[in-house]
Amino acid sequence: MSVHTQLAEGVRTTCPYCGVGCGIVAKPDGRGGAVISGDPAHPASFGQLCSKGSALGETLALEQRLLHPMLRQPYGKLSQVDWEQALARVADGFRRVIDRDGPDAVAFYLSGQLLTEDYYVANKLMKGFLGSANVDTNSRLCMASSVAGHRRAFGADTVPGVYADLDKADLIVLVGSNAAWCHPVLFQRMMRNQAERHARLVVVDPRRTVTAEEADLFLPIEPGTDTALFCGLMVHLAETGALDRGYTDAHTTGFAEALARAREIAPDSRVTAERTGLSEAHVEEFFRLFRETRRVVTCFSQGVNQSAQGTDKVNAIINCHLATGRIGLPGMGPFSLTGQPNAMGGREVGGLANQLAAHMGFEPQEIDRVRRFWNAPRMAEREGLKAVQMFEAIERGEIKALWVMATNPAVSLPRAGGMRTALKNLELFVVSENVLSNDTINAGAHILLPAAAWGEKDGTVTNSERRISRQRAFLPLPGEAQPDWWIVSETARRMGFTEAFAYQSAADVFREHAALSCFENHGTRDFDLCALAGISDVEFDALDPVQWPVRGGVPGDGSRFFSQGGFFTPDGKARFVAPEFPALSEKTSASYPFRLNTGRVRDQWHSMTRTGLSPRLASHLPEPFVEIHPTDAEAAGLEEGGYAKIATAHGSCVVKVMVSHNQRPGSLFVPIHWSGETASGACIGDLVAPCTDPHSGQPEAKATPAAISNVSFQLHGFARTSHPVSLPKQAWWVRVAVPGGLEYRLATNQSPIVWHDFAYREMTRGGQLAEELESDRYRAAALSDSEIDAWICIAPFGASLQWDPRALVATELQDGSAYPLRRIDFGLMETEPVICACFQIRASAVQEAISAGTATTVKEIGQVLRAGTNCGSCLPELKRLIAGLAASCTN
Ligand code: SF4
Repeated sequence: MSVHTQLAEGVRTTCPYCGVGCGIVAKPDGRGGAVISGDPAHPASFGQLCSKGSALGETLALEQRLLHPMLRQPYGKLSQVDWEQALARVADGFRRVIDRDGPDAVAFYLSGQLLTEDYYVANKLMKGFLGSANVDTNSRLCMASSVAGHRRAFGADTVPGVYADLDKADLIVLVGSNAAWCHPVLFQRMMRNQAERHARLVVVDPRRTVTAEEADLFLPIEPGTDTALFCGLMVHLAETGALDRGYTDAHTTGFAEALARAREIAPDSRVTAERTGLSEAHVEEFFRLFRETRRVVTCFSQGVNQSAQGTDKVNAIINCHLATGRIGLPGMGPFSLTGQPNAMGGREVGGLANQLAAHMGFEPQEIDRVRRFWNAPRMAEREGLKAVQMFEAIERGEIKALWVMATNPAVSLPRAGGMRTALKNLELFVVSENVLSNDTINAGAHILLPAAAWGEKDGTVTNSERRISRQRAFLPLPGEAQPDWWIVSETARRMGFTEAFAYQSAADVFREHAALSCFENHGTRDFDLCALAGISDVEFDALDPVQWPVRGGVPGDGSRFFSQGGFFTPDGKARFVAPEFPALSEKTSASYPFRLNTGRVRDQWHSMTRTGLSPRLASHLPEPFVEIHPTDAEAAGLEEGGYAKIATAHGSCVVKVMVSHNQRPGSLFVPIHWSGETASGACIGDLVAPCTDPHSGQPEAKATPAAISNVSFQLHGFARTSHPVSLPKQAWWVRVAVPGGLEYRLATNQSPIVWHDFAYREMTRGGQLAEELESDRYRAAALSDSEIDAWICIAPFGASLQWDPRALVATELQDGSAYPLRRIDFGLMETEPVICACFQIRASAVQEAISAGTATTVKEIGQVLRAGTNCGSCLPELKRLIAGLAASCTN
């Protein structure tokens, strides 16, 4: 047992969600769960966790876990097999396809959820031993445009700054980033700088998000026009003498061309305002703030990256920092906020189709270097297919064998419905997963391999500031689950590559990864872990969070790049890039007049396979929704709380309506999290256009032309069960985690008799059913082992759904027994969102406290209700709520 698992206070590990990379102390409770707290010693977070990280203890149950290898039988069912059978099938299948069709007929699709060691082994197998670069990752959907922008400007995928810059900046510009929800702990850090040092915050976003509420200046920009804003800024900086000519002359090339292009796109503040949809006064105020403030950090995230012009947006931002020499110094620089916990680690190993390994590309000398290091028999000689192109090649039948690891592309890819169909073309479809069922598995995976989950895995992740942290196991591997690096290595051995994949531990893999970073690296490559290449198992076990580069035996700490130049281009100079400013790829039309924007909500992560297990997290925004401006809602006949169909040229979905002034007229916002597992038709990936950035291959997920229309249901209701059920087709439903079970929220035009059939089929589980059936309503409760195991209530819209299934059982079964409810709490279906997930405080409670005069400020709400006093993720929403209530009192 390692020194860390012996610590009385728990095991130090890292959060598996966003790219902030917060440190966690996990203390196993002896019952398969763990008590989770922030690690005060972790330098990325200093003990803070957001609502998602705090609720990790609720996501460790094994009920939904894949615990054994499974093989799909010819009649379609999955059945358990042993590891030997499963791995032999995978190895034989890949070998057969490569021998017959060549290496480009196979592909791996990886994930920013994998540990670096998992990524490294998969990348090595495909690019060095199978001979293809068809290794891509869901990070392509997340931050590929930042990677491409960095490489164009810096010659390498280098994040120049560190989180401490957010403490030292006097101006923080957030572009396309709802950091209050998507990077909450980092956002709280910005808020502290704003409160304590009076740093200014500018938010550039088409939506008035909760992040925007905190801004000193909010710029509600038109979708896709960020390049024009930063071109206008560059022109302004040039014309007001705010450039650092010493820096640009010494350390950059291409300035004149980039400035000339900027003048073409946005020659002055008036044209900038016209092109961005902003007021000229706002544009000028932003320009002035940027010009007059030396310490500026510009953070950008998915609103910039997830765009068919994403790379140019990134370079337009970087241009302004290069032009003013504001890079690599305390409190200044462009800063990509990474979405996933280990997107950076994936970038480091080269787990993208257009990278080779260890921040090397496909230049002949780089291929040769990696070949010699790996002693590789069959190197990939050119870039592979990026995510969208990879799945389109599957659709065309060109890729015949696919291995998906730790991700759910059937939900997250653009035009996801078409991609699900394409997966059926595969001759071999392997999925390494934690869960028994998700949309990708259900798209017809042939072989399921049970992978270790967070809490069981051991290895490293890298956060947005290049900080490598250990994820440590604090729970035993359940069933037959194994780490991904083990699964890939065992497959490689069965393909004849025993020696090259003889790893015994994650530490073995990490040492090789570090050694490759340092191999023939004489300061010519940014990514360098030389000092870690020889660490022992004990040192790996004890490794404290460390920022790279880690050269010459001295661990890096707070090191920044580029203040004195030293770029990773052939001449050592940064390149200004003259950006393009094309129109958005798909145009709106009479049929699709809206722009559909997609994004995250505060308390869910990706396709909810983990966060969806937590009742606490479900209570924030439990139902899929579309946010729409009141004017547009009225024109479309939509009401708050009603239902709307959203359609694009690629698919449609039906979600609840949320009317909000925070949304721009002409635009819609729908969250990304719901899938076929958790809702009847709310997979927003189905609707997203597969348009991609020409440089990064990242899809445009923020501006698909869309239509919206009202949908009416006559009945609504809910079912509570202790187990997943299959709902009648045509019904609208969403599955919500509740304490001890599941709540299905329902809307339907189907006769109550359909629900009677459903109750018998899905709820009884061999026990008795007590029911009440009327022409327009249905109620039933299922008994199992003398406990009420499930119940359902369907009624006309407007009618109350509150009832006690125990009364029905006592009456209908006429034995007078008082049957208890099995584990599931009885309660009215709750539709009011919880503001504070930690203490389950609803908006009405805040409202009551304010009305009663017991609290009027965020601080007082915290004192009275405790809301906002734990993780702080809800503080921006509390402020918004209090401001809204204050405004309504004044009016
Ligand atoms: S901000 Fe939240 S989700 Fe992100 S790493 Fe920290 S605790 Fe996890």
